[in-house]
Amino acid sequence: MVIRPAAADEGIVFIRGDLGGNNRVKADVRNVRDTTLATTLGLNGVTVSTVEHLMSAFRGMGVDNAVVEVDAPEIPIMDGSARPFVNLFREAGTHVQGKGRKLLVIEKEISVSDGEGMAMFLPSPDFRITYKIEFGHPFIGVQQYHLKFSDVSYEEEICSARTFGFLKDVEYLQAKGLALGGSLKNAVVLDDHRIINKEGLRCPDEFVKHKILDAIGDLSLLGIPIIGHFVACKSGHRLNNLLLKELMVRRECWTIAGGFGGELSDEAASRPISSFQAPASIQASIPVI
Ligand SMILES: [Zn+2]
Repeated sequence: MVIRPAAADEGIVFIRGDLGGNNRVKADVRNVRDTTLATTLGLNGVTVSTVEHLMSAFRGMGVDNAVVEVDAPEIPIMDGSARPFVNLFREAGTHVQGKGRKLLVIEKEISVSDGEGMAMFLPSPDFRITYKIEFGHPFIGVQQYHLKFSDVSYEEEICSARTFGFLKDVEYLQAKGLALGGSLKNAVVLDDHRIINKEGLRCPDEFVKHKILDAIGDLSLLGIPIIGHFVACKSGHRLNNLLLKELMVRRECWTIAGGFGGELSDEAASRPISSFQAPASIQASIPVI
């Protein structure tokens, strides 16, 4: 995989270098083709899967525009976290481009549920996440974490959390020819009682932190940063994606603000949400499914 700079407003674009012809797929919620096991993007028969950890690193470190060339149908899993990608961005460097950033500001509560899990947005002066997981496993149980999002909190608290799975699921998947690259080097694996990895966890709440890492990647597929409070319980790629689709239809729940050129200033963050009113021309540029 090679990551290159892109022009302002280009967004994140994937190129399948191993295919000819029209081999580009934009990171866009409308191009999500599958959310079982991982998030797969696709357009005109060209697919790129397992994009969520790289997308999380992009949003987490404030990278809006990049071209990702990959010579296989999926993004390298690395160590199962977003840390290797964050380190690459640090090494390569990033710069502020000449155009102001647009932001989607949540104005009204919006939620989706599938009976088991729930995901919602509430109005908030900044982007924050409250996430709860409940697993009937003695080592995980109930974990809840609250993140006030910034590139600093993302790098320090979230990006190193690895993906996790259960040994019985891995055996089932591998029997079906899936997850063949899955190993203790790129995931935390649990049997019925404990963690199999010798090194243990990177932090006690690594499980819920990885779910937040995933959510940041899933929500980034909207294409612009969100100002709002994301609250989730037992959610996952599918439900996060469903929330974005609901958001795009429910136009009364958000407005577009722009021209800040990056993170919200203290002055902007302290303003009441209702003061973020975007010109109709900017709002019209956000496509609706
Ligand atoms: Zn993940």
